[in-house]
Amino acid sequence: MISEKKYIIALDQGTTSSRALLVNCSGEIVGIEQQEFPQIYPVSGWIEHNPKDILDSQLNVFKNLLINQNISINQVSSIGITNQRETTIIWDKQTGEPIYNAIVWQDKRTAPICEDLKKRGLSKYVKENTGLIIDSYFSATKIKWILDNVDGARKKAKEGNLLFGTVDTWLVWNLTNRKQHVTDYTNASRSLIYNINSLEWDQKLINELGIPMSMLPEVKPSASHFGDYEIGGVKIPITSIIGDQQAALFGQACFKKGEAKNTYGTGCFMLMNTGEKPQYSKNGLLTTIAWGLNGKVVYALEGSIFIAGAAIQWLRDEVKLISNAKESEKIAQELAEDNPVYVVPAFAGLGAPYWDMYARGAIFGLTRDTGQRHIVRATLDSLAYQTRDILEAMQNDAEVELKSLKVDGGASANNYLMQFQADILNKEVIRPASVESTALGAAYLAGITIGLWTEKDVLSSKSIDTIFNSKMAEENRSKKYKGWQKAIKRSMSWENE
Ligand code: ADP
Repeated sequence: MISEKKYIIALDQGTTSSRALLVNCSGEIVGIEQQEFPQIYPVSGWIEHNPKDILDSQLNVFKNLLINQNISINQVSSIGITNQRETTIIWDKQTGEPIYNAIVWQDKRTAPICEDLKKRGLSKYVKENTGLIIDSYFSATKIKWILDNVDGARKKAKEGNLLFGTVDTWLVWNLTNRKQHVTDYTNASRSLIYNINSLEWDQKLINELGIPMSMLPEVKPSASHFGDYEIGGVKIPITSIIGDQQAALFGQACFKKGEAKNTYGTGCFMLMNTGEKPQYSKNGLLTTIAWGLNGKVVYALEGSIFIAGAAIQWLRDEVKLISNAKESEKIAQELAEDNPVYVVPAFAGLGAPYWDMYARGAIFGLTRDTGQRHIVRATLDSLAYQTRDILEAMQNDAEVELKSLKVDGGASANNYLMQFQADILNKEVIRPASVESTALGAAYLAGITIGLWTEKDVLSSKSIDTIFNSKMAEENRSKKYKGWQKAIKRSMSWENE
């Protein structure tokens, strides 16, 4: 077991901020540093980060964590990295300079490249070999865009002088003094060019997109020795890399097939462990690698909801029915009577399982006595209904009945929402004591790699804050969910009718 003075540092490189978390030998977070960095919006639909901002902010929080927690570098056993996924960086192998800004996962500029891939009949191949659907969300079309649009890039790439990486790869290459060009299975599985069955870069897709193999990093299990960060004459091993949503699944200790977690942030991401074989969805979910550990690969089904916590921001910033997110809980709880109102927050179309980019937001069931509270509560309810939609799709695909759902993320702090979630799912909703699942996932894996913990230790270290059990009668639940399905139907195809 880890000596009491030793710690693991989790680097959590997110979309809007970089964080460093100090984790002690009991798997508890004892210190956090966070630094935001600029979001760059060159034109509508484009989102970029400066890779140097990513690196600098991450190094800063690391240093500040040591200083503010009064920790010496010798007390750090290892580093685990978790990161925003899919975001794409290409840099010059000789100079280390990025040749373009990082193109962020939300960026939509490569939609035409995706349309072209679909026209070439690649959808089925992509699904069967990468587990994904063809979408600008994933890295590969972003790589192609940079190679096509930055002067001289394609020639340099062909000559073997450019490197591609997701954020983890960029960080490790820099932390290891340009020695290691690596990533892990989870990040590779979001690229659209990684074969999740054979565990290698997919030659056919690489050829289709004109991406030279020499640009691509070596792919390793998530729990591996990825290199050393040398600082002040001390070498700290980097012993985990795992994409943020997979990290949360691991951090929630969803180690068994059929266990699932839902993260309630700006959007919602639900992942279910489907065991050692990939399960392919018939309901618009993604198949992805959950982690690689102890010589085994674990797969997951993933469903995402575009607008979740963002709907609460909409209540606060646009329609101004609340002054802060937390207030939504009190307002919802104050409404004693049943709520006939439904808010469908399809502000950006609908994702899984509907996949309708023409759907738009709508409010249904208004009557003369509808007030602010009904709309606030119905907006919260929409997070729970959307979660049920995804969960049902997952259960159908994986052919397992889920007993409980583990939750985390900002909006999981809302007790009204979590109770309603349990009610509408008729399942236990389990909120852990620490909702920092993402950073914990990276730290646990890093600790397991160096032999400090086992999965069993992780399981026994988890403590629960609250278990929410359904209190709703089946008749009521079924009536409410039917209402939601009717509302969703009516919000669909709004833009193209
Ligand atoms: P992200 O990582 O996507 O930035 P977070 O996990 O930090 O998200 O959660 C922030 C989101 O959660 C915001 O969209 C916010 O509106 C929502 N949120 C935070 N607290 C609450 C709350 N008490 N009730 C409902 N929503 C909340």
